[in-house]
Amino acid sequence: MRPTVLNPLFADVTALKGVGPRLAALVQKAAGPRIVDVLFTRPHGLIDRSRRPTIADAEIGSINTMEVTVDKHHPAPVKRAPYKIICSDETGFITLVFFHARADYLIKTLPEGSKRIISGRVEDYGGARQMTHPDHVVDPAVDGGLPLFEPVYPLTAGLPASVMRKAAQGAIERLPTLDEWQVPAWIAKNKYPSFGDALRRLHAPQSPADLSPSAPALLRLAYDELLANQLALSLIRKARKKAAGRAFVARGALKAKAIAALPFKLTRAQEEALAEIETDLASADRMVRLIQGDVGSGKTIVAFLAATRAIDAGAQATLLAPTEILARQHLETLAPIAEKAGVIIDILTGRDKGAARADKLARLKEGAINLLIGTHALIQEDVAFADLGLVIIDEQHRFGVQQRAALSAKGWRADLLVMTATPIPRTLSLTVYGDMDATAIREKPPGRKPVETRAAPIERIEEVVDAVSRVIARGEQVYWVCPLVEESELLDLTAADERFRHLHSIFGDKVGLVHGKMPAAEKDAVMERFHRGALLLLIATTVIEVGVNAPNAVVMVIEHAERFGLAQLHQLRGRVGRGDKPASCLLLYKGPLGETAAARLKILRETEDGFRIAEEDLRLRGAGDLLGAAQSGFPRLHFADYAAHGDLLLAARDDAALIVQKDPDLKTPRGEALRTLLYLFSRDSAIKLLRAG
Ligand code: ADP
Ligand code: MG
Repeated sequence: MRPTVLNPLFADVTALKGVGPRLAALVQKAAGPRIVDVLFTRPHGLIDRSRRPTIADAEIGSINTMEVTVDKHHPAPVKRAPYKIICSDETGFITLVFFHARADYLIKTLPEGSKRIISGRVEDYGGARQMTHPDHVVDPAVDGGLPLFEPVYPLTAGLPASVMRKAAQGAIERLPTLDEWQVPAWIAKNKYPSFGDALRRLHAPQSPADLSPSAPALLRLAYDELLANQLALSLIRKARKKAAGRAFVARGALKAKAIAALPFKLTRAQEEALAEIETDLASADRMVRLIQGDVGSGKTIVAFLAATRAIDAGAQATLLAPTEILARQHLETLAPIAEKAGVIIDILTGRDKGAARADKLARLKEGAINLLIGTHALIQEDVAFADLGLVIIDEQHRFGVQQRAALSAKGWRADLLVMTATPIPRTLSLTVYGDMDATAIREKPPGRKPVETRAAPIERIEEVVDAVSRVIARGEQVYWVCPLVEESELLDLTAADERFRHLHSIFGDKVGLVHGKMPAAEKDAVMERFHRGALLLLIATTVIEVGVNAPNAVVMVIEHAERFGLAQLHQLRGRVGRGDKPASCLLLYKGPLGETAAARLKILRETEDGFRIAEEDLRLRGAGDLLGAAQSGFPRLHFADYAAHGDLLLAARDDAALIVQKDPDLKTPRGEALRTLLYLFSRDSAIKLLRAG
């Protein structure tokens, strides 16, 4: 149960004074449904009315606050024309403009001959200064009439800034006094305000510095948020570990046989990763482990070797891949090794139908298939295993929690291994994957040559085409990636279709096209022809981004590279350089490059370490963007900023671990206060995991 002291904050926004149903709907759109959402909406700017320029010094296009003398009223000469008031100071004149004005009101507030402080946006109107509908008009003789600093909130169409401000003030007034959940000594040492004072400060900033990520009030709130986050994750992780798993005891020497069947030696990183996974598999706790590793770092083999342990103990394993192409590729890589080791593997995708499918499912249910690779088709209801003990999920971010759970539910106390080739910065990983144990494979198999990476303006495309023709003449392969197919005409993107026609006219049937809108079977057919070497140049949209392997591909051309994210470019580049031939990546951009885009291309030229690239990506974009972009599933943060508050996050993680260790059921007074914190940040689902009472 939510502590009753929080009730005023969890009421609907409509409960705020002065926010009627119509405006409430807009506030809810801008902030969220409840009062706490308004409270947690961080101003992104500040109007500074403390500066008093003269009329001549006023900054055109900005909000200015000036002391002026009211000279003369010019009522609207005709209906619908504006009412104008001329004001002046010793440096010049400014016209105040009012539409639909009530003359009596204006005469009262701006009497001729009086001095007034006016504040609002100053515009240039044919060389003259004017201000339409000032935000404030105050008599300088009356004290305190003008707010010197006003927060500016993210707004939504139709929502006046003043209403949002009023809503925030209303929310602040409802803020109850809460027991401190942070360690008092820590608060004192950092000179942080209390939670309530921090919020009051945030919503009444006194200078732009108050809104910076390093302002004490913001640091305090960011830490609260991160602690709530980390504490919830720690509690979830702990509960999950307590959940019974099964201890897989290998009966034979399947793993040794599989290792003997490998055409290569495992890297040290692979061996270490495998050892960690095996410890989990051997223990009776349930495994929930993430393997992060760059494209081509050899995660799939590690997962397979892990599977042999479960299989050797008499259970089955399954490997879920996001696309048909990837599932087939996994099958292709693993089949020869599995065969030598005596592991029976098979594949199930949307293409399996009718009697053949029924037969496959029957064999699965009998236990005649040891490892079933597949796509979403694995999750279908009638897919039943004899004894599923290990669930492996590739490119896990492509699947939702429900999908993962549905697959796990087909097993009995099944262990879970998830993999991602998109390393994310450590700080983000703590937040997003904090409920899992993590393994990183940072080393790549030996013999990989660096991919020579260059950037060139699109104007040099003819030279690129020449270079491509030389590569093709040698019988080697080229990827050519275009951003989107049939995108809105407004965006000046080179459609893959168009590029295909262009290059097809030069290279003929050696060129293929694959894009996201093609039927799966057609897509696979093209990929298959490329894989087999029947196609030498593959024009593609980002469908090739994930995991596809063609060792003979040596050149990656990326058109409009400036429009891709850093991580995405890195993923794409990872498609080449998988064989023993030198490989290169050409980033074609349309200039002029913005600062960030230029920095992105520079980093790519400097490094191929996906972990470093992820850190740089975060630094360049700021977390907000990173989170908003293609990557889903990241919790939205109100106060904390993954890029700016990395240290706080680490501290919060340690703090959370300590809390869970010392006060696992949150029973101490601090524990009680921490429960409130979890509710405040909507992390209360974790509270349900605590022992009742
Ligand atoms: P990932 O899934 O991490 O992208 P894969 O497991 O698909 O990488 O491995 C990429 C390629 O490298 C595969 O062809 C695989 O057979 C090969 N490979 C994996 N481990 C090694 C190794 N230790 N030495 C040499 N090649 C390896
Ligand atoms: Mg893979």
